[in-house]
Amino acid sequence: MPQVLISRNRKKTTVPFHTNAMPSEGMAPVTKVAQLADYFPQHVFDGDPAQVGYPVQIPRYYLGLIKSPGDPLWRQAVPDAAEGETAQMAADPLCETEQSPVPGLIHRYPDRAVFLASNRCALHCRHCMRQRDVGVDIQNRSVFYEKIIDYIGQTRTLREVILSGGDPFMLPDRVLLDLLTALKKIAHIEMLRIHTRVPCTWPQRISPQLAARLKGYGPLFINIQFNHPAEITPDAAAACARLADAGIPLGCQSVLLKGVNDDPDTMLQLLRGLLSIRVRPYYLHHPDPVAGTAHFRVPLRRGLDILAYVRGRVSGLGVPQYMLDLPGGGGKIPLLPQYIQEETANRLIVKNFEGRLYEYPLD
Ligand SMILES: *Cc1c(COP(=O)(O)O)cnc(C)c1O
Repeated sequence: MPQVLISRNRKKTTVPFHTNAMPSEGMAPVTKVAQLADYFPQHVFDGDPAQVGYPVQIPRYYLGLIKSPGDPLWRQAVPDAAEGETAQMAADPLCETEQSPVPGLIHRYPDRAVFLASNRCALHCRHCMRQRDVGVDIQNRSVFYEKIIDYIGQTRTLREVILSGGDPFMLPDRVLLDLLTALKKIAHIEMLRIHTRVPCTWPQRISPQLAARLKGYGPLFINIQFNHPAEITPDAAAACARLADAGIPLGCQSVLLKGVNDDPDTMLQLLRGLLSIRVRPYYLHHPDPVAGTAHFRVPLRRGLDILAYVRGRVSGLGVPQYMLDLPGGGGKIPLLPQYIQEETANRLIVKNFEGRLYEYPLD
């Protein structure tokens, strides 16, 4: 149906690169459900769009990738009436706020910490696990950063800082580079990581200049969130190529989401597609029980079955670890399909990727 509108929208996706990481006028993201009527005139929206708790924000580029209402990209971007029904779950089940020694830093593991460098995102993912923070600007940014950098400088067990948010690529280039420079100056920080969705949701933001400037900060790793094969477009591939060509190893942290990628073949296509653009699947996150996201939940067994399915069908480089983030701040643990069927005094009975049983001596 709205094919014409979509293709017109597609043509407009060449965003001029901005030092201030916001799209120019006219390319401004969609922020009201009512604006979607222009793109999907026949769709009747469920519930009162004005009642959406977590604000809407959809880059025009990402909107152009949605083929029809309810499809996997739509589900990630457009509010669902179910968000209100499930709002009684916890806003912060992983207790990230309690594990923040200074505001904006989550320090859970001894050696690495998450620095929430921006509260802005290009796309407000409906499944966001940090929607309690996203969509507002950080006040007194330099003071806020200073306190975090002081803590990192004083905490010698830390070896790695993970810039996340929000999305660090929503910061102007200069702010992001200054932050990386300040962190790199700390002697005990051996490596840096950026967690982002921008190469997937607003790939034009990754300008050649930005990619070139990131070259000097290695070892710097970038993990991106792609959740569906339809997100692997020529634009996204080009953004990833700019980063990979700058010598930055790229990983992917996907979220297992009902109606998006909770299907073995969709997951297989996603993993193969990621390898084809030099992005290595790192984690497949089981969805966290965050308020407003219950309609994305998938049974654990289904996640394990999907993982067992992809093993043997995609390169081992393309099999992510299936991760459960424990409530109450217990940290992440990997879950594996049950390969060990039985253990006797001297041997294991194991199951291969096709479900066949084998014996293997214990020593
Ligand atoms: C996920 C997470 C990390 C990073 O974990 P890795 O397993 O190294 O990817 C670090 N700190 C917190 C609080 C996290 O939630």
